[in-house]
Amino acid sequence: MKFKTCILGLAGFFLSASLTFAAAPVPEVAKGVPIDPTKGYVVEEIKDGLYWVTEGAYTAMFLTTGKGVIVVDAPPSFGDKMLKAIAEVTKEPITHVIYSHAHADHIGGAGMYPKNAKYIAHVETKERLQRANDSKSPFPYGMFVGGKPVPLPTNTFKESYTLKVGNQVLQLDYKGDDHEPGNIYVYAPKQKVLMKIDIVFPGWSPFKGLAVAEDVVGYLDAHDVILSYDFDKLVSGHWGRLATRNDVEVQKQYMQDIHANAGKALQTVDFYAIAGKVGYANTSLLFETYLDAVSQECANLTEPKWIDKLGGVDVWTKDHCYKVIMAIRID
Ligand SMILES: [Zn+2]
Repeated sequence: MKFKTCILGLAGFFLSASLTFAAAPVPEVAKGVPIDPTKGYVVEEIKDGLYWVTEGAYTAMFLTTGKGVIVVDAPPSFGDKMLKAIAEVTKEPITHVIYSHAHADHIGGAGMYPKNAKYIAHVETKERLQRANDSKSPFPYGMFVGGKPVPLPTNTFKESYTLKVGNQVLQLDYKGDDHEPGNIYVYAPKQKVLMKIDIVFPGWSPFKGLAVAEDVVGYLDAHDVILSYDFDKLVSGHWGRLATRNDVEVQKQYMQDIHANAGKALQTVDFYAIAGKVGYANTSLLFETYLDAVSQECANLTEPKWIDKLGGVDVWTKDHCYKVIMAIRID
């Protein structure tokens, strides 16, 4: 009898566990490039000495120039795979390092690059890295994403910077705040490749909270800025493949739907009806209940159209809705 109860208990645990983690199937379009598990990464030439690298979750790139390698970013999740990837295709040393933005999960591995290289970033990125260095936090920069403090940028810019090394040209542009102040566009005109990190997640609903965007309006507008470049391939930072113009268009439509449905939900969910049930005594509870109901309504309006088009739509749409709702209310 005891044994039977135990078995039933276990079955109940697994049933509830599988219910807790239930999610819609991930569509084919969300899948990254196949990766040889013994190697753990893929390095591929896109065109004319411009290579992209992924370990399945992050993407970054580098260029051979004939006079040294330009590398953009150093996701700490790569470990030393970026060095291995570069050594696989060239004997040139790394002479230039570009930081796309200051987030440790994309550049926290840069300590492995040569100390005498030029480190190039937006002026805001340098300020944020300086602030991280000066911080008295007991948790050093990047420690929870496998990163370590990185070299401070040696060359900074505010609006644009043209980097010419050997036979390669990169155009670096800053077009305003979006994901994080200082998050730049890195454009290779000869190859028609654009690198812009943490805006577009090809095949997927973006990471939680519009990919942790600091400026919601800037984040939404960045889709059009990306499309204003003449590019064929976009290195977007996630999740394991390159993005195409179509991926950007698709995510832009998903975001436009979220924005429209957030507005609709704000117009239709009745604050006073909710206040009638929750009461006014606990303002925190009242606003949490109201904002949750508006976010849920926005998600209910958005998800059916997108659930089989992108991965993770059922996981993160409500959270994107919340973020857009707050921006519509107060930005
Ligand atoms: Zn970021």
